[in-house]
Amino acid sequence: MKYYSTNHKAPDVTLSEAVVKGLAPDRGLYMPETLKSLDRDFFENIDSMTFQEMSYRVADAFFGEDIPAEDLKKIVYDTLAFETPCVKVDENIYSLELFHGPTLAFKDVGARFMARLLGYFNRNEKQLVNVLVATSGDTGSAVANGFLGVPGVHVYVLYPKGKVSPIQECQFTTLGQNITALEIDGVFDDCQALVKNAFMDAELNGRMKLTSANSINVARFLPQAFYYFNAYAQMKRIDKADDLVICVPSGNFGNITAGLFGWKMGLPVKRFIAANNANDIFYKYLQTGVYSPRPSVQTLANAMDVGDPSNFARVLALYGGSHADIAGHIGGATYSDSQIAETLKECYARTGYLLDPHGACGYRALREQLEPGQCGVFLETAHPAKFKEKVDSITGGDVGIPARLQAFMKGTKQSIGLSKDYADFRNFLFEESR
Ligand SMILES: *Cc1c(COP(=O)(O)O)cnc(C)c1O
Repeated sequence: MKYYSTNHKAPDVTLSEAVVKGLAPDRGLYMPETLKSLDRDFFENIDSMTFQEMSYRVADAFFGEDIPAEDLKKIVYDTLAFETPCVKVDENIYSLELFHGPTLAFKDVGARFMARLLGYFNRNEKQLVNVLVATSGDTGSAVANGFLGVPGVHVYVLYPKGKVSPIQECQFTTLGQNITALEIDGVFDDCQALVKNAFMDAELNGRMKLTSANSINVARFLPQAFYYFNAYAQMKRIDKADDLVICVPSGNFGNITAGLFGWKMGLPVKRFIAANNANDIFYKYLQTGVYSPRPSVQTLANAMDVGDPSNFARVLALYGGSHADIAGHIGGATYSDSQIAETLKECYARTGYLLDPHGACGYRALREQLEPGQCGVFLETAHPAKFKEKVDSITGGDVGIPARLQAFMKGTKQSIGLSKDYADFRNFLFEESR
């Protein structure tokens, strides 16, 4: 399968080129040239398949031309080694819990898949691939854990000193092996600037093979389609799939875009809702037809603090740029921090279900927008324990920390301190490449 750039000013590439490059040279995002529909038979029998079986069928439609069946099957089965149950929260509202992976957030799925795919493409190369990832917390932990122990790949996680929570920090500083944590004396934007500079540094790229693992990478965002099929199958099993609405707490829009790909392949979803926090750029676009990015503002649901969602270009491409079609199929919502807190508290008190601040946006949008007879699933993108201080102060409770998170906290922190000057980072990488 060929991949084209959404800016149409760069040559088409193969899957392996798209994965290693990440962003196209014209700064567009790669999109598969065609999306294969899955047949009627598949959807009729989906409720009797395991999550891994159905995901392999979806993966085959995306990647089957480029990877032999047995290899692809192994990559998919390795990636989905944890459950994503649909749990009833309220009348006709279900939570698709995507937080049962190693770092308790949905990004584990994409990161694990990408790690295995990159390892696969690089398996016969002598040169290591180096993944550079700047993080304000969550992406770094998912990527580090996804890539841990993958042969032929080394990961450098750049994070701002003193600006990530202790729980987050130990998720990427205690791993060792092929994961190096770099503690940058600066803020998140400095980390991101260092990574961008490295990608543009021709001499450095001549010495080291560098790639990124953010959500613009096709290998990270496409596999997120798998769990939308799983949500549908679970709802079909309880006879609630006929008029299904799926609501996705959205920041960079990688997650919802994967769901839209699923829909294009035939997944019977009536409509989608993108739930935003106070960063309401997409919401405003739906209302006005004008897309105007702004600097992000900090909120309780901080993994959605995005002022210029990078996957917006893919949403446009999927609907041929038509605002009417997009607004006709995707609903929007935007919530302030006080609304998020109020929703989390109210839902917990009334139903006993503890949301995290991101899931709270998704749940509330369904409560407000479901029509009679419709059933809704929202993606619960993270475990509430990841935001323990905030969640406890809202509910007055004490959310338990799952064992796998506690295990990280027992490890020894290992990281290398660097200034925010590019020259220091560059010297460090040059030393590494010797
Ligand atoms: C990354 C993230 C999101 C936003 O996902 P996008 O694909 O960027 O829209 C939502 N919730 C949590 C917990 C996240 O980590």
